Amino acid sequence: ASAAAGSTARDVIEAIRVVIHGQVLELGRLDSVAGDGDHGIGMQRGSRAAADEASAAVSAGAGAGTVLCRAGDAWANKAGGTSGALWGAGLRAAGERIGDQLRPGADVVAAAVDAARDIVQSMGGASVGDKTLVDALVPFTLGLTARIDNGETLAVAWSRAAEDATAAAVATADLLPRVGRARPHMEKSLGSPDPGAISLALAMTAAAAVFTE
Ligand code: ADP
Ligand code: MG
Ligand code: MG
Repeated sequence: ASAAAGSTARDVIEAIRVVIHGQVLELGRLDSVAGDGDHGIGMQRGSRAAADEASAAVSAGAGAGTVLCRAGDAWANKAGGTSGALWGAGLRAAGERIGDQLRPGADVVAAAVDAARDIVQSMGGASVGDKTLVDALVPFTLGLTARIDNGETLAVAWSRAAEDATAAAVATADLLPRVGRARPHMEKSLGSPDPGAISLALAMTAAAAVFTE
């Protein structure tokens, strides 16, 4: 009954799967600087499982909320690792907020992204500046919400927020990690960006192409 938004949600997950697939080696390399090197493969496993599940949900007529919840659960189950648990929980929280209405407004999409940010921060306990994916997710969420509140379209607001997230992810190179696996290797991480922040920015940038006027 809510196929329109369900298909869009599926297209977002598929766009994320494609961009991650193309960056598996680079994300693994970034994670090997101060982490265990599995971020590329973990993100690939998670986004693949999520995209498969999203397609199955759309075929069954699911709306956006159900698509995102099922995709998130599949991601968390298949990815393994810290980022997999956080991505899974974030997608589920977004799905629960957006629900299965046929045409959710841009303000509802922004609220769903903020619900994802909220669960990611409460689950992982990281704040801005800790050198994690939160350093990209928070500016993305703030940028999206501010632009939508200003009356910009979802397409424009999302793509500009993705630019904010990319700049913030690149800037994590200058930070020392305070949480997560990279923490014991603090000094090695200096000069190299956080892999989870980079993959999040890549994902949001790829997803921007789905939202057209
Ligand atoms: P693991 O560290 O379990 O091997 P991944 O390599 O898939 O998991 O993911 C590493 C990324 O997870 C880091 O680059 C960072 O962005 C993110 N991360 C790690 N710990 C946290 C945390 N407590 N809160 C938010 N993000 C985190
Ligand atoms: Mg890792
Ligand atoms: Mg690991």
